Amino acid sequence: MPDLMVNLDGRTVPLADCHWVLFDADGCAEGSLFGRCAVDEEQAHQELRPLKRDRDREARRGYQVRLLTREQWRRDAKPCLLGRCEHRKGGAA
Ligand SMILES: [Zn+2]
Repeated sequence: MPDLMVNLDGRTVPLADCHWVLFDADGCAEGSLFGRCAVDEEQAHQELRPLKRDRDREARRGYQVRLLTREQWRRDAKPCLLGRCEHRKGGAA
């Protein structure tokens, strides 16, 4: 199967080079999937949250799944996934 191409950030990149990322309402990344694991936001969310009630709860709380390029992932998602982002500093956790 040829690589699916997606248009992100004004660039056309192979989906396989992207990451699906689940962000909470504060923009903090909670989970991430390789681009080729899903074809759209809905499917990516299903992969990350197999239970519909989890997805529904997250949707109500303003969670969003977004497709990021590798560079965006490194900048916007990686610190969160490593627990080193600004969002978590000073939080109750
Ligand atoms: Zn964060």
